Amino acid sequence: MSEPIQIQPNIHCEPCKECGARPVIEQSRKGFLVTCPTNKRHYATAPGMVNIDEWNRFNKKSPVLTGPSYKSKAS
Ligand SMILES: [Zn+2]
Repeated sequence: MSEPIQIQPNIHCEPCKECGARPVIEQSRKGFLVTCPTNKRHYATAPGMVNIDEWNRFNKKSPVLTGPSYKSKAS
């Protein structure tokens, strides 16, 4: 069992796109992930290093990506 870790207030995090909650850090067997404290399904970064950037990218209110389930990210 691991308790969610609060992210320091001086670190900029976008609020959860779904519910507006401030993300927390969770530790899994594969590493750390940044996730929504309300529901992991809202969003969770890939386990590994703490990746607040990834969280911010996903949860940023973008004027371009307004599709409900835009998820293709071909690179
Ligand atoms: Zn949420």
